[in-house]
Amino acid sequence: MLSLTPLGTNGLYPTDKPTSGYLVKGDNAAILLDIGSGVFARLINAIDVKSLNALVISHFHFDHASDIGVLKYYLESNGLKLKVFAPLDDSPLCKVVMGSKCFDFTPINNLQKVVINGLLLNFYQVNHPVLTFGVKITDGVKTLAYTADTNLCDNLDNLLSGANLALMDCCILNGMWKESSPHLSAKLCAELGKKHGVNVLLTHLKPNLNQAALLYEAKRFYPNCELALLKEYTL
Ligand SMILES: [Zn+2]
Repeated sequence: MLSLTPLGTNGLYPTDKPTSGYLVKGDNAAILLDIGSGVFARLINAIDVKSLNALVISHFHFDHASDIGVLKYYLESNGLKLKVFAPLDDSPLCKVVMGSKCFDFTPINNLQKVVINGLLLNFYQVNHPVLTFGVKITDGVKTLAYTADTNLCDNLDNLLSGANLALMDCCILNGMWKESSPHLSAKLCAELGKKHGVNVLLTHLKPNLNQAALLYEAKRFYPNCELALLKEYTL
């Protein structure tokens, strides 16, 4: 059985909710997607962190990776090592991963496939100002897609095809969207979800934006859209 528990759904900065972090569990696997600000506190209350099999970091923006520093302290103080899949770039947070013995770092490449304890991960480079990868995760029965931060790109079709549930970057209303934007709009998330017949969870929600308006816009184009909540979803 595949499940998803959003631990943080804010974009930019945390409020009562952390920024990006998503716990994905299979029958024998637990994988964390992104580790934004406030995610570690949620994670340690959600599972025994020692049972985590891998961390995937979509990209090294602070709202997706800033808790890597406190995860490092946790691993070091408990004598643990964790597999990390992340883009290789020259950001300070990537240097934290590369420079720490507690992280077993594998750089992500476009179209790379990895199997972790029975879950197959397919990585796709997406369209964001820094090197960023979305990921499709399947247990062979159900499939989750995570777009990470992105604007439109060809790989979104590869990422979303065959998925049952999609976590999509919905940072802005369509009136704010431009071809050069770093993010998708609510309308674009909805249209992509409809095209692929996948249920959509809108995430990376800006705290200073009217989220009811985002949801309203998305549902006008495709009713199977919801705002991602901090609860467990079974696929
Ligand atoms: Zn970003």
